[in-house]
Amino acid sequence: KRFSGAYIRQSFIDFFVERGHTFVPSSPLVPGGDQTLLFTNAGMVQFKDVFLGTDQRPYRRAVNSQKCMRVAGKHNDLEDVGRDDTHHTFFEMLGNWSFGDYYKKEAIAWAWELLTEVWGLDKNRLWVTCFKDEYGEIPTDEEAAENWAKQPGMDSNHILFFGRKDNFWEMAETGPCGPCSEIHIDLGPEFCDKRDVPGHVCRVNGDCKRFLELWNLVFIQYNRLSPTRLEPLPARHVDTGMGLERITAILQGVSSNYATDLLSPLLDKVQQLTGHTLEERKANITPYRVIADHSRAATFLIADGVVPGNVGRNYVCRMIIRRAARFGRKIGLMDPFLANVADTVIEIYGEAYPELVKNKDVIRENLTREEIRFRRTVEQGLSQLDVYLEDLKARGEKILDGERAFDLYATHGLPLELIRDVAQEEGLDVDQEGFLRAMEAHRTISGAGKAFGPLGGERVDIYRSILEDLQRRGALGPEGVIYDPY
Ligand code: ATP
Ligand code: MG
Ligand code: MG
Ligand code: MG
Repeated sequence: KRFSGAYIRQSFIDFFVERGHTFVPSSPLVPGGDQTLLFTNAGMVQFKDVFLGTDQRPYRRAVNSQKCMRVAGKHNDLEDVGRDDTHHTFFEMLGNWSFGDYYKKEAIAWAWELLTEVWGLDKNRLWVTCFKDEYGEIPTDEEAAENWAKQPGMDSNHILFFGRKDNFWEMAETGPCGPCSEIHIDLGPEFCDKRDVPGHVCRVNGDCKRFLELWNLVFIQYNRLSPTRLEPLPARHVDTGMGLERITAILQGVSSNYATDLLSPLLDKVQQLTGHTLEERKANITPYRVIADHSRAATFLIADGVVPGNVGRNYVCRMIIRRAARFGRKIGLMDPFLANVADTVIEIYGEAYPELVKNKDVIRENLTREEIRFRRTVEQGLSQLDVYLEDLKARGEKILDGERAFDLYATHGLPLELIRDVAQEEGLDVDQEGFLRAMEAHRTISGAGKAFGPLGGERVDIYRSILEDLQRRGALGPEGVIYDPY
């Protein structure tokens, strides 16, 4: 079917294969041999060592669709999931790469050609951003802006400049980095959710939902030695990423990722299980979306060997299953049901990701077992939580302390994120730092050792030491420092 999610994924790959790129399959959600990162959160993760110069590949151009998870560390989108139309815990990132081969000219021309000619997007709806340093220290990316201006039908008023937060990419506090250029689409004034705010103006990278980021093109051209020193890299690279669900929604002309054929069959399945009318489904849209998102994520996680557990990645798997199960309870699904939703996930994704089909039984068993475990204690846990929240309200307080929250996890299996959901529904919140401290203390006492915290995190310190070592050994290129303001 033209513009099905599967068609779009394949046509992205074909477009770049026709332009000399090698198709590289998605790496697993668990980064291989990488202790620094909880989950693969971008297409570049499996190529990180190529940028660092410590790995070589038999190709200089690559294309793929990468399985990503953003529920931990620097990229944690969990709180947006279900509440907006465009952020998921698990999603697919389409990407093309140049390792010291082509650069801005080709990357920009191909992105424009694919979006506007192959896929036929209206050029007037597209906006692009380029890097301009607000501190005036790093050169403005004129090269990207000039290339954008040359594209057929490009409106030069749609080329904008932004600073470090939006348009400068860094792997860590030191190491490969460079300006990026992003493509945004104007969804139309009706998508603005701040119309009632006096003085609001819709802007690219602004605070309303009118403009949606589609595709990020990163141009890796510097090596950062310190907060104030950059040197040019001997080889320059291109690293791009576009969310498959977002481009699919645009090309299918629907207003939400959840309305695409990549996700809507999951919501349909939930509706079938609840027996809801369309009105009832609409009235419960957040639970429907969270269940669709989390069951897809858990299915992919288990297929990659991440089963529910207490620490690190396994905690995340447990947390999303329990969170989906609680949202299920809210809409009347009291018995285990996630294996049924997983069946639909496998139908949608099995062809592109055969590991799902191969591990179907393991996926179903792990989901159901975890739901049964949770069901044993959830009732007690939720009523204990209610008591705590009523107590807070009676005292006119707003924050549930970390000790009590951790006790709810340790005794009744309520993950922090789920406690937070319930508290927030009552206009209250949880002391997350306190929860983590209590958990760490418990772990030290119980001798379980220090691992990734329950929320995980990217261990920037480890990246830094690897990079410093490489720099000491001169493995990252000449010492031609291009700026040093001090
Ligand atoms: P946003 O600003 O919308 O949160 P981002 O700047 O964090 O996106 P990048 O790190 O630039 O995203 O990733 C490249 C692309 O991946 C984005 O342009 C977007 O299309 C897609 N993407 C990012 N995060 C998500 C997510 N949580 N769910 C679905 N797609 C995503
Ligand atoms: Mg983001
Ligand atoms: Mg962004
Ligand atoms: Mg971005």
